[in-house]
Amino acid sequence: MINVTVWNEFYHEKNHEQARETYPNGIHECIKSFLQSDEFQVRTATLDDEECGLTQEVLDDTDVLIWWAHMKHDDVPDKIVKRVQDSVLKGMGVIFLHSAHLSKPFKALMGTTCNLSWREDGDLERVWVINPAHPIAKGLGRYIELPHEETYGEPFGIPEPDELVFIGSFEGSEVFRSGCCWKRGNGKIFYFQPGHETNPTFKIREVQQVIKNAVEWCKPELRSAELDCPHIQKIQ
Ligand code: ZN
Repeated sequence: MINVTVWNEFYHEKNHEQARETYPNGIHECIKSFLQSDEFQVRTATLDDEECGLTQEVLDDTDVLIWWAHMKHDDVPDKIVKRVQDSVLKGMGVIFLHSAHLSKPFKALMGTTCNLSWREDGDLERVWVINPAHPIAKGLGRYIELPHEETYGEPFGIPEPDELVFIGSFEGSEVFRSGCCWKRGNGKIFYFQPGHETNPTFKIREVQQVIKNAVEWCKPELRSAELDCPHIQKIQ
């Protein structure tokens, strides 16, 4: 059983009519509903929860954290960001979705701007599987077709991914590194581009498959208790 925590800032779905219609219970509940299974034990947490719902106890009990955010990145306190970053370095997996590219934890883990170019015209997107043998691409065809998605374009201000799984292409000819993998410390990180709040992207079967695959891929291999730098004795 993999313990998953789905974190959402949960702002648009309460304040924007089209987002509310698309995800009446919030993006986090939508993601929970398709993940919850015999393999995954799923809890949710939001910005309005005490300590953003991310106490040390919750993170210690989380194998993989999923993060969706857009407007309220700066409302996440730095001590929570540090807690998430340290948990990843110790071994927790983390998946950043769509506009979480500018979230504080993602930027802290990447160390770069994480900027990109964007426009919101409801373009058709094809998410091309460029690494079909990768575990995150399991069960997919050549591409995933998303009838309407926000357009994200390069350059994407990230460090070179350790592995690239998907490249998205849009009606306006933009391309984007849509599925990127990194390791930081003991932890695995996956960024996945689709998931604008007014498009029902998380209801698409292949998108759900990617997120399930990514949870499997991100689960900890090893979890350190501490991030220390011990003074040691010579072995006699
Ligand atoms: Zn968006």
